[in-house]
Amino acid sequence: MNSFKADVVVIGGGPGGAPVAWRLASKGIKVVMLEAGGHYNPYKDYDLNSKDWHTKRFPHKKKLDYDFGVAQPLDKKYSHLKSWAKSKGKFNKSNKRRYLSYQSVAGLGGSALHFQGEAHRLSSEAFCMKTKFGVASDWPIKYEDLERYYSAVEKIVGVAGSDKLTNRPRSKPYPMPAHELSYSSKVIKESCDKLGYKLTPNPVAILSRPYRNNAPCNYCSGCVWGCPRKDKGSPDVTFIPLATQTGNFRILINAFVSRIETKNYEGKKSCKGVHYFDDNGKEHFLEANHVVIACGAVQTPRLLINSELNQNGVVGKNFMETTFLELMALHPKRLDSYRGIPIDSVIWDWNDPSKNKEINAGFRIYPTAGNALSPLHYAKYYFDGIGEELTSEVQRWFGHAIGIAGIGEFLPNKDTHITISEKKDKFGLPLAKIQSYNSETELKILDSIYKKAKEILEASGANIFVEQYSTYDLFAATHVFGTCKMGNNPEDSVVDSNLESHEVKNMYITDASVFPSSGGGDAPSLTIQALSLRAADYLLKEA
Ligand SMILES: Cc1cc2nc3c(=O)[nH]c(=O)nc-3n(C[C@H](O)[C@H](O)[C@H](O)COP(=O)(O)OP(=O)(O)OC[C@H]3O[C@@H](n4cnc5c(N)ncnc54)[C@H](O)[C@@H]3O)c2cc1C
Ligand code: SF4
Repeated sequence: MNSFKADVVVIGGGPGGAPVAWRLASKGIKVVMLEAGGHYNPYKDYDLNSKDWHTKRFPHKKKLDYDFGVAQPLDKKYSHLKSWAKSKGKFNKSNKRRYLSYQSVAGLGGSALHFQGEAHRLSSEAFCMKTKFGVASDWPIKYEDLERYYSAVEKIVGVAGSDKLTNRPRSKPYPMPAHELSYSSKVIKESCDKLGYKLTPNPVAILSRPYRNNAPCNYCSGCVWGCPRKDKGSPDVTFIPLATQTGNFRILINAFVSRIETKNYEGKKSCKGVHYFDDNGKEHFLEANHVVIACGAVQTPRLLINSELNQNGVVGKNFMETTFLELMALHPKRLDSYRGIPIDSVIWDWNDPSKNKEINAGFRIYPTAGNALSPLHYAKYYFDGIGEELTSEVQRWFGHAIGIAGIGEFLPNKDTHITISEKKDKFGLPLAKIQSYNSETELKILDSIYKKAKEILEASGANIFVEQYSTYDLFAATHVFGTCKMGNNPEDSVVDSNLESHEVKNMYITDASVFPSSGGGDAPSLTIQALSLRAADYLLKEA
């Protein structure tokens, strides 16, 4: 660190932390980023060129621990939503929902290192769910307040799209044209056309043209393993290099922040600095007048509660997670469905809650190859035989798998929250305890996704169903929100509309924990980054 003195400390190097860090540093503010994970080198760490790439998963260098709470008993009325595969049977044979994992990455770039690059704006309805539909909470800002930040992020990360959705008006075109649909998406589009559903290209932070000094995507579909070509716009290849170029930005990796220290300033708590552990377990204190927290919607509430910063008891409540179902089938035609970007098209027809009168919440669906990207997956999950019989089945069907998946709204409920566990990590700090309950709304959304998926697949001719995965009986959240909600009322929210804490002056939260509602299945990272840039503008005046 030499003699670098920080004006602002940013905790977490994911989509929530990186944009605010860049913006402040670009305006001459000295910024230090503390990131619990390490640094990934896309060319070396993402091994999509090796022969056994399909046997591997995302190459985590470090994982942050967490704990799980009570499992929800399953409602038998929805047992058709259970997860299963043809050769394995049901994945969860119990009558309770099973916790698998909170899918996240500790590293510079955050969980976006592992993401699929979907880059969605929220619809204008998502900002006023309480007023319009009587559910969740209204945001204290509107779509129009975020619009120019959405455009700014799309330009920096490089979003390819052609979407002209009317409830997401744009002031600027996408910086890149949409990707051409893969062959399998074209086949699904034909069935959607027959059924009267509108399939459109998906806006994605994946290069369709040379951009950011990078060649465009090669359509290997391996985004969740990490992109070895820097084509996927995760913050390690977008905002962080830009911040570094300013000369006003320092990064400490493997620096786990354990506590925010406050002082009394004019009768109110104000930031004094942060305590963190280095990789050798040595504790340090970094003085800071302004602290930005962006540890994600599970670790941010943990940090606040462990720092005894939860005066109104709202931190950790309003947790929202991923409502997800995927149904896979084999199509009579070979589609080469393993080629393309992972999610190149979307059907938004049910994203606006007013289209789903009985549910009052939104969802969207899309064609996918799911995990069927290599022959190994077919062999393990789709066929029962062994030896030559199995080999010939796999040869016969490889490239035929096609699925429809959907992601939907998750409404806050009193049984879904982050609290602090009795279990501790290696530093002796209590873990975050995740508890999630699906309400009737999420179950109805899953049921609607299931019905639409079956209808579209059957209309396309794909009627040999081989696999289903659903959050009805398994928890494996990728999109998490809401545990430090933004709002105007300090009694029922954690940060204000500028993302400054109601309780501690000069403390900001810029990750998905500030979302008052989750959106109708929209992917969150673009909104997180837009909010982070917007908070930087406010912080610039303050710092
Ligand atoms: C498989 C997968 C696919 C996904 N696909 C998409 C997609 O296509 N589009 C999309 O928009 N979203 C997608 N997401 C979700 C997206 O990745 C997250 O919403 C987003 O990364 C959240 O950003 P964040 O900054 O809030 O948190 P994170 O990205 O999780 O970043 C938090 C960072 O803070 C660090 N940290 C945590 N605690 C501490 C601490 N105490 N001290 C220091 N550092 C700490 C962590 O190490 C981490 O690097 C996907 C996620 C997964 C896992
Ligand atoms: S599909 Fe494109 S963006 Fe995704 S890993 Fe392959 S090259 Fe990278």
